[in-house]
Amino acid sequence: MNPWVLAYDGFDPPTEGLREALCALGNGYLATRGAAPEAAAGAVHYPGTYIAGCYNRLVSRVAGREVENEDLVNTPNWLPLTVRPRGGRWLDLGAQEVLAYRQELDLRRGVLTRRLRVRDPDGRVTGLTQRRFVSMDDPHLAGLETTVVAENWSGPLEVRSALDGRVVNAGVERYRALDGRHLEPVETGQAGDDLVWLEVQTRSSLIRIAQAATTRVVRDGQVVAVPRRTEREPGHVAQQLTVEASEGEPVTVEKLVAVFTSKDRAIAEAGGDARGRVGRLRDGFDGRLERHVLAWDQLWRRCDIDLGGDGDPEVALALNLHVFHLLQTVSEHTIDLDVGVPARGLHGEAYRGHIFWDELFIFPFLNLRFPELTRALLRYRSRRLPEAREAARAAGYRGAMYPWQSGSDGREETQRLHLNPKSGRWLPDRSHRQRHVNVAIAYNIWQYYQVTGDLAFLSAYGAEMLLEIARFWASIASYSHALDRYEIRGVMGPDEYHDGYPDRDEPGLDNNAYTNVMAAWVLCRALETLELLPEHRRTELTERLGLRQEEVDRWEEVSRKLRVCFHDGDIISQFEGYDQLEELDWEGLRARHGNIRRLDRILEAEGDTPNRYKASKQADVLMLFYLLSADELRGLLDRLGHRLEPAAIPRNVDYYLKRTSHGSTLSGVVNAWVLARSDRARSWRFFTEALASDLHDVQGGTTAEGIHLGAMAGTVDLAQRCYTGLETREDVLWLSPSLPEELAGLGFDVRYRGHWGVNLHLTRRRLRVQVAASGAAPIKVGVDGQVVEVPSGGMREFAL
Ligand code: BGC
Repeated sequence: MNPWVLAYDGFDPPTEGLREALCALGNGYLATRGAAPEAAAGAVHYPGTYIAGCYNRLVSRVAGREVENEDLVNTPNWLPLTVRPRGGRWLDLGAQEVLAYRQELDLRRGVLTRRLRVRDPDGRVTGLTQRRFVSMDDPHLAGLETTVVAENWSGPLEVRSALDGRVVNAGVERYRALDGRHLEPVETGQAGDDLVWLEVQTRSSLIRIAQAATTRVVRDGQVVAVPRRTEREPGHVAQQLTVEASEGEPVTVEKLVAVFTSKDRAIAEAGGDARGRVGRLRDGFDGRLERHVLAWDQLWRRCDIDLGGDGDPEVALALNLHVFHLLQTVSEHTIDLDVGVPARGLHGEAYRGHIFWDELFIFPFLNLRFPELTRALLRYRSRRLPEAREAARAAGYRGAMYPWQSGSDGREETQRLHLNPKSGRWLPDRSHRQRHVNVAIAYNIWQYYQVTGDLAFLSAYGAEMLLEIARFWASIASYSHALDRYEIRGVMGPDEYHDGYPDRDEPGLDNNAYTNVMAAWVLCRALETLELLPEHRRTELTERLGLRQEEVDRWEEVSRKLRVCFHDGDIISQFEGYDQLEELDWEGLRARHGNIRRLDRILEAEGDTPNRYKASKQADVLMLFYLLSADELRGLLDRLGHRLEPAAIPRNVDYYLKRTSHGSTLSGVVNAWVLARSDRARSWRFFTEALASDLHDVQGGTTAEGIHLGAMAGTVDLAQRCYTGLETREDVLWLSPSLPEELAGLGFDVRYRGHWGVNLHLTRRRLRVQVAASGAAPIKVGVDGQVVEVPSGGMREFAL
């Protein structure tokens, strides 16, 4: 197995949707699903092209109510291209005899190739090879090359190439009752012989989207003129070309497309820029492809992870695929876009392209590779600080309360109602009570600062967000005289199966341990940030925010007195009252339903609710062990007046693993992490399961609706930080390797504190840290409690 090629043999309609998501091509500006160019949206195929940050809001009526949703828009399909012998049928794999079919995604080069042969009812055999790319070199450019061989016939071959703006959002079945018509046609046109263009506009956000395409026939490297006719309809433009095909002789058709929107930078007007970009190309498909491949080559030089010796190629393939899709969702082309990282990539319509807390799992990889990208993604949040302040104010709190789901302007985008496909019922969605997203944002700011030492960012943007989030936590916490503790009530933790108490009408839970402990952590970091800021800036910020000493003192106090509940001795209660819930009959449910990952849907359909049980969707308490080192967590709990014995950690891990259905792909990543040092075999099982999440669509159908980027990046980060024990704190790069049995070694480059190439190379017996010469200040490396300096151009080896 080649770990750089994702290959599929045979045309398989039931898994086509999955392949489309996994074979999507993108560049951080846009992504296009790996749909067949000849196919339209339907039961088998779902072509989709998504542009980062291109959202539109629509109102629909469901269950007798008006609901408003903002969606990442399915923009015009630039792929359409099909062929037929004159008088024959257009290519249709579902209706023709398919003699051969193979599809390959080349991860190194970012090229999707499809080879197939079909026989039509008249016995004509036609071979077709298609290659496509979405340029990592020029984010506005994409190309599709089709080579047709009339294997046993000669005669006119008709080629139809189109830009289709009549697409709607219909990629997720359970959203289909909602209005998905986000686009309206604006204009189509033709310029010269072979350039056609299309403009559409989103219905409420009024984003103009322009595409321009040239479709050319190439023989022996030369463009040849062929008869063609153009058809224009509202929202659709097509060209039909006729080429004389001779038996056995390949005919190549190149389609190059430019995509712009009115939100782009450095443009005059989207339509003109799209036409200009594709009209002025001096080279064809191959020339553009070469530049694209160079860009990927450079990306892989930074991101390659060497698993040492002859590691399991399945593992290597999955890791490569995960890095590949991460870089296709966010890249240098994302930096100027003012966007966050959509949980499901730019690969489908699930979760409507919204941004959740998943960046917590994604940024650690980016921090150590593309810190300027994390910086830009954090700016997405800082620009939405006014909206977060407004949300806090409206809810009666101070500071900034970021939304659980975020889209264009940073308002709360969580749906009010969601459909349980199992029962057919629309139910209230309370998941916006996951205020812990504010922990994730603060944590991401802090981690970025720890890796880069970028005090300029912290001063200009990071600190203000951190302080405002701290202020929010301090204000949502209410003091109980009876307990002499601060409490946070009415929230949800990461475990979405619990959104309230079984016997209480008001939604939400009290004193979710993850939320409270991490709120204390945020308050500590806010206090630390005040110390770190240059005096001038500290004065400016405290003046601007009206932050007085009494408030800072209160943060200090709250950070020591937030309530954390325990039960059964030293088990951290997921929330107050958790111990009163019933145990779930896991075996009985498994016997009745098989797959019980989505326990919430199963129970609701049976007229029950997970709120009654000690049963979680995903890691909640265990998130604490994921985000914080054992020392850090112990220190924090100590500050809160609780002692956590080392032996309590495995007991907590075990307790919650037994009570988790892993209904989110994020769960596997966290579990693999928290078990990495205590139970390596089990950790490895969770790791490989998380690796399979999308590749083998373990949730049975969700990947087709979009990849799970948190789990993808999280698995890569397990290799990067967990197995090396890499931590960036106190200005030291700490390493504490713990290589799984299954890996012979691990090697990769990171960027750290201004150094471009810090190479970490790990085997079972030694760890080597090599710092490429750059002139930057020496870095401090900590292994086994010892801190040494490694200068630019220097190398240190540590025996393990
Ligand atoms: C998970 C959340 C996650 C969201 C988006 C949900 O299924 O429970 O933790 O943020 O998906 O990935």
